[in-house]
Amino acid sequence: MSELKHLIGISGGKDSAALAIYLNNLYPQLDLIYYFCDTGKELDETYQLIENIEIYLGKKITHLKPEDAKKADENPFDYYYKAYRGYLPSSVARWCTKQMKLDPFENFVGNDSVVSYVGIRGDEDREGYISKKSNIQSIFPFRRNMWAEDVVRKLLANSNRSNLLEIYANQVSGKELDRIVSIINQDLVLEDRNPQQNRRAFLDKQNLLLDKGTALYNHVTFDWLKSTDYPLAKETDFPLLDNEDNLNRADIFKLLEDSGVGVPEYYKKLEYEVDGEKGEYARSRSGCYFCFFQQKIEWVWLYEQHPDLFVQAQKYEKIDEGFTWNQEESLEDLIQRERIAQIKREHLKRANRQKSKGSSYLIDILDDTEGESCISCFV
Ligand code: SF4
Repeated sequence: MSELKHLIGISGGKDSAALAIYLNNLYPQLDLIYYFCDTGKELDETYQLIENIEIYLGKKITHLKPEDAKKADENPFDYYYKAYRGYLPSSVARWCTKQMKLDPFENFVGNDSVVSYVGIRGDEDREGYISKKSNIQSIFPFRRNMWAEDVVRKLLANSNRSNLLEIYANQVSGKELDRIVSIINQDLVLEDRNPQQNRRAFLDKQNLLLDKGTALYNHVTFDWLKSTDYPLAKETDFPLLDNEDNLNRADIFKLLEDSGVGVPEYYKKLEYEVDGEKGEYARSRSGCYFCFFQQKIEWVWLYEQHPDLFVQAQKYEKIDEGFTWNQEESLEDLIQRERIAQIKREHLKRANRQKSKGSSYLIDILDDTEGESCISCFV
């Protein structure tokens, strides 16, 4: 029997919740292990969502906490906040994700061979902050390309061309093979390019191959993996190989609603008023209530909808020492009457712009920084 383990991390966000439901329904043969990295600073709505998923799946979601915090019997965030001498985490010093998400996950996995399922959607262009350990292989079932970028880069490398041609030739023939051969034979020009252009070159080539058949590409990749050390290398089959789904945000909302689990409460739009005009706000993501990735309008949401938590967030700021959640202003400054009105005005303007582009999702406005955030926390 295979010793490979199948893990899915529930972040408290909509996408990982939907992925848990999706995999449970479509691939009951996968013996999935569910986990949640608990920072101790999540919104109640997140814990509620975790409970709803447990009820739906009829399975426990293991709560992971960092060992050091457990030994000290302390709240994980508060433990590290003290260990880092009051330095608040930020996008350039993200000790929180490493200490409270990645390390507990990697300790939980140990040396086991693991497939880790990640809920990045088909309409997102990001790879994010994921484990780079060789015994953990990430799979993205919601995307047309379910493979991680490191796999893609090795598979499509110029140096791997003859292997790739041979594997395709075992699967297709005739004109179809001729067309695929011409794609594979196109040289990837990587010199004198920046990392983003470089990444794009691989993804563009991959898209051409995916256009020739997603399931075919998956089977070819799976065959090639056998010559590697990736966790899937020792498997004789993998149920997702024929999956050709490509799910976007609307699909995720529908999946959650249809299942009865529902979307996390904090996504629900609430009305606000500024200068006699009405707007709507919500929180766009899961994670700690004070997360530095959140937008100004989300801080206002927190202040108005969860004033107690806002006060807690304020307590971490040491303005005299320059430790604030936002670089350019403290939370005290942010909640001044005129500043709140200004934030709402700017948000309303963006919302109206988005509506004129035809988007019906408030989350489209809130989500526009998703790319620079963190898949360990917000998927
Ligand atoms: S949600 Fe934000 S503050 Fe919390 S661990 Fe993730 S990145 Fe850090």
